[in-house]
Amino acid sequence: MSALFGNYGKRRSQIVKGQGTIVEDSTGKQYLDFTSGIAVVSLGHAHPAIVQALQDQSEKLWHISNLFGIPGQEKVAQKLIDNTHFAHAFFCNSGAEANEAAIKLARKHTGKNHIITFEKSFHGRTFGAMSATGQGKVHNGFGPLVEKFTILPFNDVAALEAVIDDSVAAIMLEMIQGEGGVNSVSAEFAAAIAKACDDKGILLIVDEVQTGIGRTGTRYAFEQTVLKPHIMTLAKGLGGGFPVGAMLGTAELHATFSPGTHGTTFGGNPLAMSVAEAVLSHVFEPSFLQQIQGVSAYFVAQLKEQLPSSYSIQGQGLLLGVGCGETEVASYIVAAEESGLLLVGAGPNVIRLLPPLTVTKEEIDEAVAILKTILH
Ligand SMILES: *Cc1c(COP(=O)(O)O)cnc(C)c1O
Repeated sequence: MSALFGNYGKRRSQIVKGQGTIVEDSTGKQYLDFTSGIAVVSLGHAHPAIVQALQDQSEKLWHISNLFGIPGQEKVAQKLIDNTHFAHAFFCNSGAEANEAAIKLARKHTGKNHIITFEKSFHGRTFGAMSATGQGKVHNGFGPLVEKFTILPFNDVAALEAVIDDSVAAIMLEMIQGEGGVNSVSAEFAAAIAKACDDKGILLIVDEVQTGIGRTGTRYAFEQTVLKPHIMTLAKGLGGGFPVGAMLGTAELHATFSPGTHGTTFGGNPLAMSVAEAVLSHVFEPSFLQQIQGVSAYFVAQLKEQLPSSYSIQGQGLLLGVGCGETEVASYIVAAEESGLLLVGAGPNVIRLLPPLTVTKEEIDEAVAILKTILH
């Protein structure tokens, strides 16, 4: 029996190395990695720029307390807020931690505690983030949950309008629900959220832990909508594989996180900042974002052309889903792995496609060819 807890269920292949989109398991078998560590390895495995950044920083300084200034934090924060309406950043180590910071900031700033979230959302496994998550399977056995989250149906304007009142501190949502099935916010729903926030002074928290940092073809997914969040959370792709999270906020929120109100030992560590800076320098290049959009359009076109029309193609950029109706996808994922393609599900009935943002058309052709043999 394993010395590990069994919380991840049966583990799949043991991956021991990677280069770009290709990974290799302990038996030497190679795979196309269309999971990217679940949207983490944005520049592919072992990208020379981030290997170099980590190596250089590791020879200078690994860690220093947040009691001291950390120049890398200023640089990464500036890169994150440049050309946005956000003014400040806070760094942590994961998506759940970024969402905890967001929930705390929203409560303290508004003096209210009622937060609206949505069914099938995923915000993390810590108590606040878990309580915000709209999936019973994430809550089961862990109650009582943190209070005052109202979980509404997603993309349901009437349900939203029915609960909006002066008690609401914040609305929190993903632009595309990643874990919950690759479900995008509709234009109509985005407009209703924007209006509710404007009318009632409600804070908008956008969880871009999965959709951010170029994943949907723009720096952040909200940029493709009418929404202008007050708070945004990031993690996954930001570190390219190094653990890092961030929360961005508008200028009006600055005074709320006053000295001593929130903190972390490891958040914004110099190693993490050096890697995040290298990731952003690449991903936020306009030509790279254009490349993602081009590759995505090609990928979507190939999926539509090669797969039977009974499958729905969902999502945006390189956060795509193949909807399989009522069919469970677990056995497809196992079959793809046997054929050399790593995939992950999004809910029970959707296959999620999350290659590194550096994926090539040739790699997409290979992946689609494998998918075609499995989905027919
Ligand atoms: C993965 C994810 C999280 C949780 O991130 P962790 O780093 O696992 O804590 C939160 N929100 C969204 C949208 C995610 O995809």
